[in-house]
Amino acid sequence: MSIPNLHSATPTEFIKFLKEENISRFYLVYDKKRNRVMASHPKLNEFAQFLENDKRDFEEHEGIFIQLSSQYDTLLGAFIHRTNRGQAAGGVRYWSYDSIMDYMRDGLRLAKGMTHKNALAGLWWGGGKGVMAHNPNVDKNDPEVREFLYKEYGKFMTSIKGCYVTAEDVGTSIDDMANIFSNTRFTTCIPHNVGGSGNPSVPTARGVVAGMEAAVHYLNAESLEGKTIAIQGLGHVALPMIKFLFEKKVKKIVACDIFKNAVKNAKHEFYGENFEARLAGMNDNSILYEECDILAPCAIGAILNKDTIPLIKAKIICGAANNQLEDPLADDMRLFEKGLIYVPDFLTNRMGIVNCADEQAGYLDNDPNVERHLSKDWEYSIHQTTLKVLEESKTENTPPGKVAIELADKLSRELNPIYGHRSQLIINSLVENGWERSE
Ligand code: NAD
Repeated sequence: MSIPNLHSATPTEFIKFLKEENISRFYLVYDKKRNRVMASHPKLNEFAQFLENDKRDFEEHEGIFIQLSSQYDTLLGAFIHRTNRGQAAGGVRYWSYDSIMDYMRDGLRLAKGMTHKNALAGLWWGGGKGVMAHNPNVDKNDPEVREFLYKEYGKFMTSIKGCYVTAEDVGTSIDDMANIFSNTRFTTCIPHNVGGSGNPSVPTARGVVAGMEAAVHYLNAESLEGKTIAIQGLGHVALPMIKFLFEKKVKKIVACDIFKNAVKNAKHEFYGENFEARLAGMNDNSILYEECDILAPCAIGAILNKDTIPLIKAKIICGAANNQLEDPLADDMRLFEKGLIYVPDFLTNRMGIVNCADEQAGYLDNDPNVERHLSKDWEYSIHQTTLKVLEESKTENTPPGKVAIELADKLSRELNPIYGHRSQLIINSLVENGWERSE
């Protein structure tokens, strides 16, 4: 059987092809010297060629390792972008994909995003992402299914020998992380009771507030006092963020959520404050058009786009949601041309990964390795980096997202001071030792 049409094959069709070809593991790795992508199996050369020719999402990713789960027909993948600064780090996502191409593109894009986030934060981590493709015939809420799949993901992590270190992400819970941890040491975000850093939402909220403070400083305001904030989403990050914002004496907060209970709970929690919360319909973006100083997207991605940007009235956009720009280049430019101050999401929402970055090194209260990201003076703090990006954006007449990515890209090429480019050596050894044939 030949590989199905890559652009339209569903993950299920692709899995059928893998089974017929007796392929339970495969890789695609980048050979820098030859500027070629090498596939583990000749039958997958078309995939390698697609990556070589892609100008959108592939960017010399060092390695992609994919395994078919032994039950429940689920693809377990590790996408490793760049590891000069250290092991590739980023969460594992469990998500539904319409096509195998969507799956591949998501992994490539998310891994690259982690390279930028980690480097800009000054962490000695590279960038990578885990992606598990949900099989539509499997009940993903069944605890037995989840236990099996995440334990198998742990074994898979062990098999790739630490060139990628995983963490929690969309679709993955702390219980899933415990299952991963039962089979590998190459994970962070494990539960508190086994020595992990636990829920990162509070540090993430503090990081977003630090980004807001930097943006108002850039506009010559002393503090957030007296500001009006609009927030999309009333979830794990937004709730502590609202608390911190009232502590900073903001004048008013308007927020929305698509879930009744989220709105009700928030109203209850902030009763007595100048807080307004409303229920939004699924496609109701009216919160983005509120009269306010700062708009904080804290729900979903792709909400800054050609339709919404012209209607935004805020001066500053700074929120926790990942991938806020629907089109990273065009929408960055649209915001810039409109004169809006946009704090790139991967700069301000870094505290999730910062919170678990040093899990292996133990814990202490007010950990200086965490707190320095929230300080005003550390070179790589959210405050300093935001000011640097916004100032350079102005002087170079370039949108801030582009400035931040260029800065991150440069930092991501620095070599880890202790281990050098060790993860690339690990990838090479997996290839040399026939990882795809061993179980
Ligand atoms: P969450 O799921 O707890 O909260 C998101 C809230 O947004 C939910 O209450 C949901 O009902 C609501 N929502 C969804 N679609 C909406 C819409 N169209 N309009 C209004 N509300 C809507 O998630 P979270 O942990 O608070 O994270 C928020 C965002 O920040 C996500 O995009 C997440 O990926 C990102 N992020 C979170 C962390 C973290 O530490 N939790 C770290 C980095 C980035």
